[in-house]
Amino acid sequence: MKAPVRTTVTAALPYANGPLHIGHIAGAYLPADIYVRNLRARGKEVLFICGSDEHGAAITLRALKEGTTPQAIVDKYHAIIDKAFADLGIAFDIYHRTSSELHRKTSQDFFLQLHANGAFTEQTEEQYYDTQAKQFLADRYITGTCPKCGNPGAYGDQCEKCGSALSPKELIDPKSTLTGTTPELRPTKHWYLPMERSQEWMTQWINTGLLDGAPQHDPAEWKPQVLGQCNSWLKEGLRPRAMTRDLDWGVPVPLPGADGKVLYVWLDAPIGYISATKQWAADHGTDWEKWWKADDTRLLHFIGKDNIVFHAIIFPILLKQHGEFILPQNVPANEFLNLEGQKLSTSRNWAVWAHEYLERWPGRQDELRYALATILPEFRDSEFTWKDFQDKNNNELVAIVGNFVQRVLVLTNKYYGGKVPGPAASNAAQGEQDTVLWAELAGIPAKVAAEIDKFRFRDALASAMNAARLGNKYLTDTEPWKLEKSDPDRVRTVLFNGLRITAALSVLLEPFMPFTAEKLRRMLGIGKLGWDEAFREGVIQPGAAVGKPEHLFKPITDAEIAAETDRLKANAPVAPPAEPAEPKAKEAKPLIAFDDFAKMDIRTGVIRAAERVPKADKLLKLAIDVGEAAPRTIISGIAQHFAPEQLPGQQVVVLCNLEPRKMRGVESQGMVLMTEDADGHLRFVQPTEAVPPGSEVR
Ligand SMILES: [Zn+2]
Repeated sequence: MKAPVRTTVTAALPYANGPLHIGHIAGAYLPADIYVRNLRARGKEVLFICGSDEHGAAITLRALKEGTTPQAIVDKYHAIIDKAFADLGIAFDIYHRTSSELHRKTSQDFFLQLHANGAFTEQTEEQYYDTQAKQFLADRYITGTCPKCGNPGAYGDQCEKCGSALSPKELIDPKSTLTGTTPELRPTKHWYLPMERSQEWMTQWINTGLLDGAPQHDPAEWKPQVLGQCNSWLKEGLRPRAMTRDLDWGVPVPLPGADGKVLYVWLDAPIGYISATKQWAADHGTDWEKWWKADDTRLLHFIGKDNIVFHAIIFPILLKQHGEFILPQNVPANEFLNLEGQKLSTSRNWAVWAHEYLERWPGRQDELRYALATILPEFRDSEFTWKDFQDKNNNELVAIVGNFVQRVLVLTNKYYGGKVPGPAASNAAQGEQDTVLWAELAGIPAKVAAEIDKFRFRDALASAMNAARLGNKYLTDTEPWKLEKSDPDRVRTVLFNGLRITAALSVLLEPFMPFTAEKLRRMLGIGKLGWDEAFREGVIQPGAAVGKPEHLFKPITDAEIAAETDRLKANAPVAPPAEPAEPKAKEAKPLIAFDDFAKMDIRTGVIRAAERVPKADKLLKLAIDVGEAAPRTIISGIAQHFAPEQLPGQQVVVLCNLEPRKMRGVESQGMVLMTEDADGHLRFVQPTEAVPPGSEVR
């Protein structure tokens, strides 16, 4: 593996048939932006590429629905999306679009090279044809029931519910979305990518990182769910996939005899990263090829989990078949973000739209970036709620960062007329507190960077926030406002240190909250610092003027939050389904006889006492009254979900005749019944009303 000297970062091309919502932001764009901002601050060579994906049948469908042209649809949404990204501070080097002439040429050339390399097979295949609309139906024009999960609204190319890639013929009970009729199969010619030819090298590349016998990436750096999804595809066996479509909107197939056919949108869209890079290079009079062809370039695709197969399997096959391109070294895909207990849904309008948020919360970009960064669905689905947004703002941004910076700046203005105080020269005033403080702070920049490198952005943000927490605690512990008369040397030192920490925050928080970082620099009167300069001595100069303290964050009221949740509910036209956000397909267990069930002694109980089990961070020791002379001792693995002090008095259901088992030297005499939801939250199973302990459950 060659040590990379530059990094090409792509973020999934948003589809220009609708605006962006917070699920998109948390899925790909915010993580990519944090990653890129951090690399830039570390002085690394990095290019951040994105653009609108403007082809495909979903665009023509939308145009049909709105009674307009596909071009009008993509022009409208490209503008909305482009502005939302800019307003949110997603700092692409270029935000391009696939309807551009440069992209048409780039993707046609790419296709022709693949064709010349013998990468395609031509096949005449039966394809669904709408006899009423008199046209072949692209995958997106067909809906039906997903054969994998039973979702009745799956599309011909993909089920958005379970993320499976599909072909139209796999759909159960297919219907044309143009006319609602059942389509019929007719022959048509297409160019196929025989992906099965790549089965062997792809399996090896994904799982060992070896490409043509040489190490290309380290699979241990890939997220387990990405490897898992790739391997489930590989296990099913790669199959030929059509790379052309019968459609009148898209990049025309540049071959004779291909009238009325365009490139498959999943062939043309990722090539959009390349054409965007070309456009950027042309705009800057520089070379584009090293970003895609040099083997010392690290290529990363940030995407949501619904795009994994396209970026980790299909696009790498295309790049390799072409012959001149490097392959991605990682595809750090995120899982899905849910909203207020439900799946985000464009069609049901169950979403927080980025451009609407920015209108309703002007100047509050970082509040949203922060709240989302703390809940990024990095390894499993996560959930946004307005209440949590309020809590994160009030309890963390206002109470920690805002409070700290405000106190430092106000006191500097009050005591020293807005000039940086010189720290006391003698060590006497430095104090033990300061030594401990600097020891704790010193390692934070490296820690944040290391976590960002591993795509652990939530951890990275928590580490960065730790600098603000330490600063806040330092002020609270030293109480400089009480020492102004008695120990002015100490006050000067404390505030000087406070200003240095504020300067460091302008570096550490910048990837997550760039607007706040800019305000901090303005308040301190300093320029942008490199990552390694966060705690550099001399950044804060005694005697230099600081600016006026600005309020960084405002508390958010309950009324403001209620307005958002009311609005959300009012705008969602249909009642949300009662099912959980991510129903897990449960395998049915084999049937049992009633006698088997009757053997179980299940009773209600009341927890009388609870305590932690020493040296076992998951276990609680419970004393549960199940209607016997004395409470039973039961060990339960719930310590990470419930604090012991909240449990006494809690009604529970207990399996009483489970064989006793010794855990950590304590005999557990039964089992408390729990339920676990998709987010991993545990809840007690209990009667809806209070019943006497020991009541039989049957
Ligand atoms: Zn499905």
